[in-house]
Amino acid sequence: MLTSINGRSVLVTGGSRGIGRGIARVFSRQGAKVMIAARGRDDAQSAVDELTGAGATAAAVQCDVSDWTSVREAVAHTAETFGGIDILCANAGIFPQTKLVDLDPDEWDRVMATNLKSAFLSVKACIPHFEAAGKGRVVLTSSITGPVTGYPGWAHYGASKAGQLGFLRTAAMELARYNTTINAVMPGNIVTEGLDGLGEDYLRTMAASIPLKRLGAVEDIGNAVLFFASDEAAYITGQHLVIDGGQTLPESLEAIANI
Ligand code: NAP
Repeated sequence: MLTSINGRSVLVTGGSRGIGRGIARVFSRQGAKVMIAARGRDDAQSAVDELTGAGATAAAVQCDVSDWTSVREAVAHTAETFGGIDILCANAGIFPQTKLVDLDPDEWDRVMATNLKSAFLSVKACIPHFEAAGKGRVVLTSSITGPVTGYPGWAHYGASKAGQLGFLRTAAMELARYNTTINAVMPGNIVTEGLDGLGEDYLRTMAASIPLKRLGAVEDIGNAVLFFASDEAAYITGQHLVIDGGQTLPESLEAIANI
């Protein structure tokens, strides 16, 4: 199953921690060559050490996904290192939590640039490589927050994640001529270093509100990304998949209390 990933070149933005690191782990277990892109060198090197220690081919490149020059260089470096780019996992993101009344316009811009503009920049930079290969795959990491749900303090974050889905539909049409698909995963609450920072209370309340009664694991997202990136998913494009343990299903507190 999904043997098509073996030997493919994969760029994972935000692959140094959390969901991105989980995606990198899942792809490398399938024999893919994985490039980790992030700003921080230490976490990226630690991710590479983990993957290569398990026998995989992996490397890291320093990159700020909100900056066009940086993204172009990271994509070029990946193509040079691995002989092309087959799969882009545009995953890097930030989620500072600030209510509207306190939200500084600069923070709004920073969230938009890191989470939304970055999707455009990384896809744009990869197009020549998909064109050269005659095929390609893009998987965006969106969220349930924004496209499906709201949460106080995350107006900017939710707008950026909903914006990714708007971007995806037109991008899917334009990428089709390069035989390239683009889809999005929409994680619920996944246990990562980033989410840990939100505190014990947040994590406990969230787990209680999920029908499957646990937060997600990074590999839960990695496995869905792997499917979208596979040859087996060749005819799926412009779509999104919620992976949230059923969190967005209950209509009321009573509904979740009664299962
Ligand atoms: P995380 O643990 O904080 O990791 C974020 C990753 O993104 C790190 O590798 C970080 O590395 C990188 N990154 C952040 N800003 C960057 C920038 N400007 N340029 C390059 N890399 C950057 O976060 P996470 O929880 O894994 O979240 C990953 C993605 O999943 C995000 O898009 C997030 O919105 C989405 N998501 C997460 C959850 C969840 O429950 N965790 C739920 C829904 C969606 P550096 O800081 O070193 O650059």
